[in-house]
Amino acid sequence: LIELDRRHLIHPVSSYRGHEELGARVLKSARGAIVTDMNGHELVDGFAGLWCVNAGYGQDSIAEAAARQMRELPYATGYFDMGSEPAIRLAAELAERAPGDLNHIFFTLGGSDAVDSTVRFIRYYWHCKGQPQRDQFISIEQGYHGSSTVGAGLTALPAFHAGFGLPFSWQHKIPSHYSYRNPAGDTPEAIIAASLQALHAKVEELGGPERVAAFYAEPIQGSGGVIVPPKGWIKAMYDACAAMDILFIADEVITGFGRTGPLFACSDEGIVPDFMTTAKGLTSGYVPMGAVFMSDRVYDVMADGAGAAAIGHGYTYSAHPVSAAVGLEVLRLYENGLLANGRRAGERLMAGLEKLRDHPLVGDVRGRGMLAAIELVVDKAKKTPLPTDAAPARRIFDRAWQQGLVIRAFANGVLGYAPPLCCTDDEIDMILERTRLVLDATLE
Ligand code: PMP
Repeated sequence: LIELDRRHLIHPVSSYRGHEELGARVLKSARGAIVTDMNGHELVDGFAGLWCVNAGYGQDSIAEAAARQMRELPYATGYFDMGSEPAIRLAAELAERAPGDLNHIFFTLGGSDAVDSTVRFIRYYWHCKGQPQRDQFISIEQGYHGSSTVGAGLTALPAFHAGFGLPFSWQHKIPSHYSYRNPAGDTPEAIIAASLQALHAKVEELGGPERVAAFYAEPIQGSGGVIVPPKGWIKAMYDACAAMDILFIADEVITGFGRTGPLFACSDEGIVPDFMTTAKGLTSGYVPMGAVFMSDRVYDVMADGAGAAAIGHGYTYSAHPVSAAVGLEVLRLYENGLLANGRRAGERLMAGLEKLRDHPLVGDVRGRGMLAAIELVVDKAKKTPLPTDAAPARRIFDRAWQQGLVIRAFANGVLGYAPPLCCTDDEIDMILERTRLVLDATLE
């Protein structure tokens, strides 16, 4: 399998250079938070696949919901005047639980096309408003908004731009609120003031608010290294955008569906974004699906007055009945104990990671709920980062794997955690104990 994999299967972010003896690790089965590889080696999955298996593996009721739907009606397009019961019901259930007036749902296959869709919807919205010159988009450095061409352009991680001719000229960035090494200082007030100033400066540079379509932010930056904004940051940026009539998009692809505690992280921020993008936890990784949430305010501008908004955008697999049936069952599981368990387990995880602050390699500990990171440093006092080539991350990932732990080791020395919400206390403790073993081994 390893030989075939090397020959034929493309892994987007992988290099064996310096690790020629290694190949892909092939998983065979999984249950709860435990995954098993082809050799029978059991590991606790501290990253829920790719921050997505929120409900945990091996949930029979999800598999049954999918199988039932496949037998009854495996496909129905939502493109024209057609649909399926699970897709309609899931849209209604999501709208009921979403913050404020985010009442209109567009289903995609994942997060990248959810982000892409918002860009088209936003352009169309400004067209309907008679302001097509509002065509510039702003996002944040260290942000991640997908791997599609448009999404990768909004993404501000250089690895996703290099060699691709991205970002497009209408995609702009302002500095991150990253507080561990922020030139503005580390107080919330200073960081919020710096971000507001950067936003206003960027808007001015682009020719004023009447040129700017939208601003994208993750409630917590995930792929940039789990960067938590200071309290009040989201609200301050949202208010600033609202004052300039700039649409605010909360990208909740990672933070949605219980990862930070509530169903949606926005609910804790006192804002109702104009759009919210979600995926991952929506179907917990069992089948692909994403969802764009659109507010009444935005939808009404595009609608024809009789309730329809013929936006001219959709995919063959939008509103897929099997994915929707899975989404409905996953939602039921969240509300029958999973969210509550995730909140409990998240407190244990954060408290345990906090205790690692005394480790000589740990410079920063951050996160909320079941979304966390520790940032490793060479020199704690000076906050000297680990070398930024991929080799140390690869070594840490390998050591963790040998200890029976799957974590995400980012190339900048950040270790990311996003375990399934079904984790037991013992599984959280395993994640913490194995992390300490890995850190100690790294020190040697
Ligand atoms: N937005 C955010 C915030 C993400 O974290 C991701 C994926 N990690 C995406 C968009 C893209 O989602 P997908 O990989 O499902 O296309």
